[in-house]
Amino acid sequence: MEELETILKNNRQWADRIEKEKPDFFPKLAKGQKPRYLWIGCSDSRVPSNVIAGLEPGDMFVHRNIANVVNNNDLNILSVMEYAIRVLKVRSVLVCGHYGCGGVKAAMENHPHGMVDNWLRPIKEVYQENRKEVDRIEDEESRINRLVELNVKKQVERVANSTIVQDAWADGQQLSVHGLVYSLENGHLTDLKISKIDRSGTPEIFHVSE
Ligand SMILES: [Zn+2]
Repeated sequence: MEELETILKNNRQWADRIEKEKPDFFPKLAKGQKPRYLWIGCSDSRVPSNVIAGLEPGDMFVHRNIANVVNNNDLNILSVMEYAIRVLKVRSVLVCGHYGCGGVKAAMENHPHGMVDNWLRPIKEVYQENRKEVDRIEDEESRINRLVELNVKKQVERVANSTIVQDAWADGQQLSVHGLVYSLENGHLTDLKISKIDRSGTPEIFHVSE
């Protein structure tokens, strides 16, 4: 029970502090949310989205899974994306990977890890597609880190090519999709500069028109 007690104690201290500093914070948030960002990141405990982005509750809609994979048959992420983009009308989708990602490392290995091997399959495909480039890198850590970046790039493309984002752009909704990578070593976020701001940056086959 010690773990739970710690959480409850921390929570009450946090809520009391916020209430003291900003008395209208909770009543305002209780009325509704208007986040500007949708975060798609890794479940890794060392990459907590709001904390590393320096944002408050209410600022960011969040989806996290192992190795930040965007699957277009995953009802969970599709529901999150549809609600965040079409209902809450977030302005930016941030796909964030992190160096030293255990999921990406596992995807590069041949020995079994359990259920997660099915989940990581799209990353194996990214690895396979970029095998020449990645395998040329001598150091194992750097190889993993390059695949982390390539995986973010692939998932940015999947978000941008999704029917949800394509529909939003076709309707003239202002929305950008960005690829970021986080360093566990120094806490820095880096923009991979692979942003998509409208459908002109996506292959025509994915465009939606009436
Ligand atoms: Zn990870």
